[in-house]
Amino acid sequence: MADQLIRATAAEGGIRAVGVITTRITEEARQRHQLSYVATAALGRTMSAGLLLVSSMKRAESRVNIRIKGNGPLGGILVDAGLDGTVRGYVENPAVELPPNKLGKLDVGKAVGPDGYLYVVRDVGYGYPYSSTVELISGEIGDDLTNYLATSEQTPSALIVGVFVGAEGVTASGGVLIQVLPKAARDETLVELLESRIAKLSGFTPLLQEGKTLPEIFQLLLGDMGLVMLPDIQMVRFYCGCSFDRVLGALKMLGEAELQDMIEKDEGAEATCHFCGEIYQATSDELAKLIDDLQAETV
Ligand code: ZN
Repeated sequence: MADQLIRATAAEGGIRAVGVITTRITEEARQRHQLSYVATAALGRTMSAGLLLVSSMKRAESRVNIRIKGNGPLGGILVDAGLDGTVRGYVENPAVELPPNKLGKLDVGKAVGPDGYLYVVRDVGYGYPYSSTVELISGEIGDDLTNYLATSEQTPSALIVGVFVGAEGVTASGGVLIQVLPKAARDETLVELLESRIAKLSGFTPLLQEGKTLPEIFQLLLGDMGLVMLPDIQMVRFYCGCSFDRVLGALKMLGEAELQDMIEKDEGAEATCHFCGEIYQATSDELAKLIDDLQAETV
C-alpha cells in the first residue's frame, strides 16, 4: 500500500478518525540518516504523529512541528509535517541501538527516555504559531502524543503509531488518530466503548504487517459505530525544502571574515541539512562570490 492519509467519521460526526501509512517515508528517512533500528522506529512514529496532527488544520500552508527531548541516549527528535502531505525529520543520535524490551519490541521508550518534554508547534502560516509543551510520560511517542492531546488540546483522543523494521528495512509504518469531538465527548458510553476497542487493538503495526488496509483497520475499530470513510485519499511523502541557494544564503550570513577563512583553510565549505541529510558543497569561487556580494551591499 502506497504512503497515504485517509479520514473517516463515526457516531454521526462525533468521532473523527485519521489513518496514515508511512512505510516508504520511514524507509527513506532510515536510508538518508543511516538510522539504527530503534532510531528508525522513534523517527517513523514521530513522523506519522506529525502527519496525523496536522491533518485537522484548515489552511493549506499549515504545519506542525514536534520536538521530543527525553533523557535517553537518542537525544532529541524533531519532525516537521505539513497539511500538504510532506514530512521531514531527524534524531540527534541516529546510530544508538538498544536491546529489545521485555515484550521483544524495539525499546523506543528507553531510547527516548521517560523524563523530558514534548513540544508541539502548530503554525497556520501567517506568523502566530501556537505552541504547547507537556512532560513525557513514557517516551514511547504514541502515549506521549495521546497525553498531549488530552491535556493540552482537551480532546479525548487515542494516537497509535508503529514501525516495523528488520534487516531488509522498514516493512510497515503508520498510525491512527481517533478523536471524540466535543458534541460526543459527554456521551460516556461512547467514550468507554471506544477506549475498550482501542485497548483491544493488538497494536497497529501487526495489522499493517498482516496486509490490512487503513479502511479495514477502521472497520475493525468503528465498523459498528456508523463508520463513514471520506472519499479523499491524500498521498504523503518525505520532502525537505532545503536547496543549494538556501545554503549559500546561510553561509553569507556568517560574514566576510568567516568566509575568507573558509576559502584559505578549507578551500570551500560543506554543509549538511539536518532534516534530510543532503550534503551541499560550496567551492572557493562560490564563497568568493558571496564576499563580492557582501561588499557590494555595504557600498
Ligand atoms: Zn534538507
